This record gives sequence, C-alpha cells and structure tokens, in this order.
Amino acid sequence: MLKKYLLAPGPTPVPPEVLLAMAQPIIHHRTPQFEAVFAEVQAGLQRLFQTREDVLILASSGTGAMEAAVTNTTSPGDHVIVVNGGKFGERWTKIATAYGLAVTELKVEWGRAVEPDAVARALREHPETRLVLMQASETSTTALHPVEAVARLTRDRETLLVVDGITAVGVLDLPMDALGIDVLITGSQKALMLPPGLAFLALSERAWRAVANAKTPRFYFDLTRERENQQKHTTAWTPAISLVSGTHAALQLIFAEELANVFARHARLARATRAAAQALGLRLVAPECASPATTGIYLPDGVPGKIVGYLRDRVGVTFAGGQDQLKGKIVRIAHLGYIDAFDVVTAIAALEMALAAFGQRVAFGAGIGAAEAVLMEGMPPVPAA
Ligand SMILES: *Cc1c(COP(=O)(O)O)cnc(C)c1O
Repeated sequence: MLKKYLLAPGPTPVPPEVLLAMAQPIIHHRTPQFEAVFAEVQAGLQRLFQTREDVLILASSGTGAMEAAVTNTTSPGDHVIVVNGGKFGERWTKIATAYGLAVTELKVEWGRAVEPDAVARALREHPETRLVLMQASETSTTALHPVEAVARLTRDRETLLVVDGITAVGVLDLPMDALGIDVLITGSQKALMLPPGLAFLALSERAWRAVANAKTPRFYFDLTRERENQQKHTTAWTPAISLVSGTHAALQLIFAEELANVFARHARLARATRAAAQALGLRLVAPECASPATTGIYLPDGVPGKIVGYLRDRVGVTFAGGQDQLKGKIVRIAHLGYIDAFDVVTAIAALEMALAAFGQRVAFGAGIGAAEAVLMEGMPPVPAA
C-alpha cells in the first residue's frame, strides 16, 4: 500500500466537505438555484479578498486571470513594469510581451524579495507606466514580495498595481482595499482547497476606469461583459458549476475557522517547517523573506534532485522540486490550504527518513522536535477536569 500525501504548492489537498459538495448532481446554471449559490460565493470571495469590489469568477487556471488582468487594463504599446523574481514573475513578462506591451523587467535574485526602491526608481524613469505586475508570494522560489510597500508607490500615481496573489490570498493578510491593490488574483487549487479550474480576480474602481479605455483585444476574458453578468449572479459563459459548489463549501470552512486563524495557522506551519529545516542543518531558499505558503529547502551536498521523485513514487509524499536554476537543488514543502500540524510532522518525518535513505547522516527526530515545539502554539488548551 502506498498512502498518498499531497504537500505541493498547488494543487493542494481537497477536504471531504468540498469533495462531497462537488459530487452533487449538476444543476442548470441559468436558474434561481444556481444564482443563489453563486451570490453566496461572491459575498464570501469579497470577504476573502477584503474588498467591496466585485470578485469575478473565471473558468480557467490562475494564468487565465493573469492574462485577463493584462488584456483588460492596457492598450498595445503601453508600458508596464514586471517584478521578475522567479517562474511566475517571468510569466507576467511573457503575457505582457504576447500582447505587445513594452516591458521593463526588475530582475530579482531567486529567493529574494524585490526592493521597493527599485520599483520607485523604475517608476521615476517611466512615469508613463500603466501597470506594475508582481507576485505577493513567488511560489517558484518561496519568496514573499513586499506588496504593501509597492502599493504605497502606485497608490498616488496613475499606475495600477496588479498582484498575483495565487499563493497569498487565504494564506496571509492581504487586504485589497486597505492596501490599495488595483487587481488581485487567486486560483482555486491553492489556499482555497479546491481542484484546479477556477480563477478569481477583483479590480479597484480606478482599474475599472482603465478597462473602459483599454484596447488590447480580448474575448473569452472580457471582464466588462463578465462583470455585467456576474452582477446578476450568473456568468457570461457556462460556469464550472461543480467547482462553484465546491467553492461554496470551501468558503464555509474558511469562515468557520475565521480568517485571522487561517492566517495564523499558515504562519505557524511555515515557522515549524523552517525550524525543522534549521534543526536538520539545511539551508532555506528564501531565509529573509520566506513565504508562509511554501518552504523552499536546499538539498544537502550529495543528495540528488531525484529524492523528490523517490518521495513521491516510493514513499507517497509529494513535495515540489525546483525549476530552472533551482532544478535538482531544492525541495519545496507546501503548507497552504487544507494542511494542519500533523501534515507538517509527516512532511518532516518523510524528509528526515528520505535523506537517511540517500545516505545522509540524520539525527532522527531533530526536525520533528523543532517543528513540534512551534506547533505546540496551536494546541488547544486541556479542558478543566
Ligand atoms: C500556481 C500559481 C499560478 C497559477 O498557475 P496556473 O497553473 O495557471 O493555475 C500563478 N502564480 C503563482 C504565484 C502560483 O503559485
């Protein structure tokens, strides 16, 4: 028997409540029944995004919403600034380039956060900049970027701040309206504990004003048409009905736990994972700006990248490896979404044992012990006798 544990930064495990909600017979989407569910999901997403704006639901993976954000707010030839500190930052450049935008890239060393000063300088050099495009959490390097500091720069300018929050929304406190984020994006298969297939995005009032003048071609992801429909609790095209029902169940779980507790849990699981890595003498990929969604850990010298495949196929524990220049060098342990203390303990135990299997000398339990010491903070009090 090989029991499976999914600890990758998307897709993430799906709770039984959500699986059951999605197993219900399909209802037709042009009905009051579906519209009632859709309306509740919309209200829940506004709470999750911490925004008064409409949160639009798209049938696509997260990249679809990234593309929609670009095409709906720009015209060909417009200038944009991209914070590129990893694979997802690079994706902003590819999308913007595909639509004929002029891109200034701020390259950030992998594992580091962008310096707000670098963004300020680029904005001074290019006052005509339409968009600053960045990640809140750059999943490929496990680094967290300073969205709040960048928002302070864009807020008082004509420039819109577009944030890929795909491993940040529902992970850490990222209040869209309070920070002045103009476009905030997430996807279903990360902290929302759903299968892949939905993307969510909200636009600020000034972003919607930009949409009215934007000439970049778009059709499926025409957000104006989408908003007109979604304000009537329906969608322009056939929605992913089962996934919308699943979102309804997932949001109920999130609000039953309460958002503040959800954020605290992610922070605690991340701290426990980092403490374990340090106790095992392993180096972190993003020590100064570690994301609470995923912890990147360098493999010790002599341990090949294939340990990730070994863990997945022989041990049953799925982590993510590294991409591009980090390929074969790191392991990424995700702790976002439907993940608790004992998933982290399992992850660390699997890592310790796999390192030993690959010939490393491991002080068994050192990582687990360090993790447990942190995870105790989340243990409920013992009831009085
Ligand atoms: C997962 C992820 C995406 C979305 O990728 P899709 O495969 O299109 O869902 C985008 N940005 C970040 C930071 C991610 O973690």
